Amino acid sequence: MADHYETLGVSKDASAAEIKSSYRKLARKYHPDVNPGHEDEFKAISLAYDVLSDPEKRRNYDMGGGENGQGFPAGGGFGGFGDIFETFFGGGGGQAAGPIPRTQRGKDALVGVSIDLKTAAFGGTVDLDVTTAVVCDTCSGAGTQEGTKIETCSLCHGAGSVQRMTRTLLGQMVTNQTCNSCHGFGTVIPSPCLNCQGDGRVRKQRTMKIRIPAGVSDGTRIQLSSQGEVGPGGGPAGDLFVEVMVTRHEVFHRDGDNFRAAVSVPMTAATLGATIPFETFDGTQDLNIAPGTQSGTVVKLAGLGAARLRSETRGDLLITVDVLTPDKLDDEQRELLEKLAQLRGEEAPRAQITTESRGVFSRMRERFAGR
Ligand SMILES: [Zn+2]
Ligand SMILES: [Zn+2]
Repeated sequence: MADHYETLGVSKDASAAEIKSSYRKLARKYHPDVNPGHEDEFKAISLAYDVLSDPEKRRNYDMGGGENGQGFPAGGGFGGFGDIFETFFGGGGGQAAGPIPRTQRGKDALVGVSIDLKTAAFGGTVDLDVTTAVVCDTCSGAGTQEGTKIETCSLCHGAGSVQRMTRTLLGQMVTNQTCNSCHGFGTVIPSPCLNCQGDGRVRKQRTMKIRIPAGVSDGTRIQLSSQGEVGPGGGPAGDLFVEVMVTRHEVFHRDGDNFRAAVSVPMTAATLGATIPFETFDGTQDLNIAPGTQSGTVVKLAGLGAARLRSETRGDLLITVDVLTPDKLDDEQRELLEKLAQLRGEEAPRAQITTESRGVFSRMRERFAGR
């Protein structure tokens, strides 16, 4: 004789939830409509579930009361088939199917909001138009016209479903079908609210002020609880998720917690060194160009980057320097430069080969590490 616990693959002290979950998994796998040729397995797990899901039958079975629990006739007739079918076709949360509640929690909603880099980096407030379902203010969510009521469905008498006999591989079975008259609600609305057609909610646009926390980036989702779709029958609203899209900035772009920018400086400044005013989100800062600065050098302004999400600290502002070679020289400038070339022994220059280890990128790394 098969052990019902073994059949369902659960331990002797399995909870009702474990038994149900394991049963559902197996029933899906072996259901004759899905997987023909396993009728015996399906019967066995159905029987095991029938016994173990009923506390009294389970107790009886545990005490040695036999395969079927309380002297249940083997071979077909066990009464709970309708119940078993509901269990995995009903998709419900652990109870036998009943009427569908008219009032249910609403869905979460997702909207996008476009913000600039500064707001993303330092936070702020933006206005956002949001369209979601809201409670119908004509009927306050009831779905009925004023002075009328929701009534019990006369076809299913409130059950939401009607029983039907069907023939299957396993013989004749009783299955429950959703009531056509009330669509499973068990109740009907004889005079639906004209504003919401009985749904208890209507779609409406509203403008919300959305607080953007400092440090968000492209794709960050901000969750606003209970600001999503109101549910059917005026049920509680789901959450609203606001997905951030950061627009491009002319000067700065985000690189993790850092900002990056690029500037060009004249050859003379790069050679002699200079302090150049530079406009940042934190006002005008001194950009120090060290004497002998090469193209590609990165100058760091520590702590002037983006705010870190849920932190007091900030990243850095990294500025890549491009050295401008002068063109359009007048005679005097040309003479000066020719003189300089002479002094430096560069009248007949030879190309210095850039190798992997001495290239611009390794120079950038050295510069960067040196700061
Ligand atoms: Zn209404
Ligand atoms: Zn009905």
